Amino acid sequence: MKFVMLARNPDLYSHRRLKEAAEQRGHELDIVNTLRCYMNIASRRPEVYYDGKKLGRYDAVIPRIGASVTFYGLAVLRQFEIMGVFPLNESVAIGRSRDKLRSMQLMARDGIGLPVTTFAHDPKQTGEVLKLAGDAPLVVKLLEGTQGIGVVLADSNRSAKSVVEAFRGAKVNIMVQEFIKEAGGADIRALVVGGRVIAAMQRKGAEGEFRSNLHRGGSAQPIKISPEERSTAVRAAKTMGLNVCGVDMLRANHGAVVMEVNSSPGLEGVEKATGIDVAGKIIEFLEKNAAKGNTKTRGR
Ligand code: ADP
Ligand code: GLU
Repeated sequence: MKFVMLARNPDLYSHRRLKEAAEQRGHELDIVNTLRCYMNIASRRPEVYYDGKKLGRYDAVIPRIGASVTFYGLAVLRQFEIMGVFPLNESVAIGRSRDKLRSMQLMARDGIGLPVTTFAHDPKQTGEVLKLAGDAPLVVKLLEGTQGIGVVLADSNRSAKSVVEAFRGAKVNIMVQEFIKEAGGADIRALVVGGRVIAAMQRKGAEGEFRSNLHRGGSAQPIKISPEERSTAVRAAKTMGLNVCGVDMLRANHGAVVMEVNSSPGLEGVEKATGIDVAGKIIEFLEKNAAKGNTKTRGR
């Protein structure tokens, strides 16, 4: 088969591994820089151009669109979908996953366990939003944060209020969340491919750190997750409409709660922690599903 990957940096571990896995299985995989693709969006014969040439036929497109290029990246992916090329993840689903509020609202609608999370726009509502979230300790997070930056633990109601006010002063969107203390500074990342959890790791924060991000000095180990946790991860992927994703969960007293669903999960941490050939499983999924026009949305 012939695959095209939309990515900015071909040298990233995840991107190299996907190319390697495709080639090992006898396929071709071209990596194109998402931002250098261009197209006539009004044409009745949709095409994508790259480096002065029209791109040929592909069986599937693998989007690895970074958060900062979501807008243009999804337009390019949508163009491929309209051409009938099978997307590993659909543009509509990725768009959903990039909006944390929308994602949580959809998961709540489908009965998926989530930490109590509150949100408000108006700074006058700070007190009310904190009250709605419950008593301290509370976690205040930047809506647009990554790698654990902008995630703050407030021990008292008073400090929660000043953290919220500080963020507000910086004109950023935040949400307030109950602190899942019993998670013990660890979270679970489950890799879902085609409706099954194919690998899971536990990430644990450095000593005294409640954030388990590897970027914050956390470490990863393979973990056996319960059938209930598996089902939570699979349901989260289904709600989001993602074929491939990383579902981040916390172990709360009342069961697993989903923190986030990542539509371009990094492969390095999970492959190294578990020894599982995640890239190979993703290519295998494409072998089985990448038929022309086999998408739910085609950008709609
Ligand atoms: P980012 O998207 O920047 O990684 P997260 O929301 O995933 O931010 O939070 C970073 C880390 O902080 C998580 O991996 C988890 O270990 C910890 N954490 C986040 N929210 C909570 C919470 N409500 N209760 C307990 N720990 C949390
Ligand atoms: N690759 C990053 C991760 O798995 C995030 C990429 C994205 O923006 O979806 O944590």
